[in-house]
Amino acid sequence: MDTRYTNGRMDSAEDAASEALIRELSRHRAVRAPASVLPVVLAGAGLADAYAPTDSPIGPVFVAYNREGISFVRLAGDHDAFESSFRSRFGRPARNLERLPRDLALAIERQLAGDVRAGLRLDLRELSEFERAVLSKAREVPRGEVRTYSWLAREIGRPRAARAVGAALGNNPIPLLVPCHRVIRSDGHLNGYVFGGEAKRRALEAEGADPDELERLARSGVRFVGSDTTRIYCFPTCRNARRISERHLVPFASALEAAASGYRPCRVCRPAV
Ligand SMILES: [Zn+2]
Repeated sequence: MDTRYTNGRMDSAEDAASEALIRELSRHRAVRAPASVLPVVLAGAGLADAYAPTDSPIGPVFVAYNREGISFVRLAGDHDAFESSFRSRFGRPARNLERLPRDLALAIERQLAGDVRAGLRLDLRELSEFERAVLSKAREVPRGEVRTYSWLAREIGRPRAARAVGAALGNNPIPLLVPCHRVIRSDGHLNGYVFGGEAKRRALEAEGADPDELERLARSGVRFVGSDTTRIYCFPTCRNARRISERHLVPFASALEAAASGYRPCRVCRPAV
């Protein structure tokens, strides 16, 4: 198995080769390589990104990666459009491959199927510390469940930054693998997704969530649900909430209302205002 994409180890021979290359390039700073040579040189040294299509629950996507991990995911389509948006975002080229390396394709497939131990490495170097914290927290939301922008803001210790959380998720370079589709508006509505609302619904549906039911709850003002036997309240998609039978289910419009009714927050989904 090629370990470069799936754990922290690096190939030391390759490291040495790229260090030698960098030394060589810096010695000849004044000499400019023809533009067509550079991507090949960088790719050979493991410093450039390559990309190829793969399947996803919302259709084929292009996945770009380099030796640090996966760098960019976008809906598959026009190669020129992908390459130019990659270059304008990262300031470096991405070259097209026919298919992803087998170990990487398998790890992506496993993660999309819900295997949290797939161990995919992601290259998030271009992002701010705040953005990385947001994406890292979004990765903790279980498959088929949703949380809100304000929940995520509070979880990362920035309770007033719900709007900035929304912006950071909108800037997610690696949708699906960083499941920003599992984070929804604080009023419970689904809208807002880098690939559009319909794709967000499809991504959630593929994981067993029910987008229509989520919208219905949002419209009826239900933010949380509790059990009158355990006196615990949850986000409606929490695995504990889904075990509550209809007879024992108590809807709440807010965490304050739940607390005032003597309910305590679930330790798994940690609901709050
Ligand atoms: Zn819960």
